[in-house]
Amino acid sequence: MAIKTLAVSDELYQYMTQVSLRETDVMKRLRDETYTMPSLDLQSAPEQSQLMAFFLKVLGAKRVIEIGVYTGYSTLVMATALPKDGKIVACDMSEEWTSVGRRYWEEAGVAGKIDLHLGPALETLDELVADQSQHGAYDFAYIDADKDNNPNYIERCYKLLRQGGVIAIDNIFAEDRIHKPELTGGSLATVRKMNEDLLVDDRFDLTLIPIGDGMTFLRKR
Ligand code: CA
Repeated sequence: MAIKTLAVSDELYQYMTQVSLRETDVMKRLRDETYTMPSLDLQSAPEQSQLMAFFLKVLGAKRVIEIGVYTGYSTLVMATALPKDGKIVACDMSEEWTSVGRRYWEEAGVAGKIDLHLGPALETLDELVADQSQHGAYDFAYIDADKDNNPNYIERCYKLLRQGGVIAIDNIFAEDRIHKPELTGGSLATVRKMNEDLLVDDRFDLTLIPIGDGMTFLRKR
């Protein structure tokens, strides 16, 4: 009998994905190509993208912000879940990585739903925030980029999201390092402080799901 979240063994993980992962052939090939790249640890697990696609449908989402596209797997999965008139504002710094995704977005017929902004995400978000008509205009935001900016991304997304809109933040567990105080450096201090701050932030409902490297979901009250 489990009274806490189970540790997922490799065998259980294999079963879990076998009976739950619904991946199109295009998605699978994009993931396979990404796994051959030296930067592959930037890729989120496929079940995380499927969870977000599920959220998009529950929310009836049309407008999404993605911060950190990488090779565009989550972008592809989310765009597939959006209605025809849905849009993703996709932010990334890398032409090289996102160009991998673009090929698959085209092939899947969802490229028209994706507005890719190459450059610092904070600049793109600040442009949106400067336009009053964008406030409350988004249903969902996925934050998975430079972790030191997470608090800045959250504040901008808060303004851009409608009430009831959801923010997903990836890598909350920092690859199993977040809870080990003897480990420091990188973005650990920022993410730890963010986690503590979010727990008592009454602007949001909150849940932390131990999927992938840990994802926090915030719902704007
Ligand atoms: Ca990630």
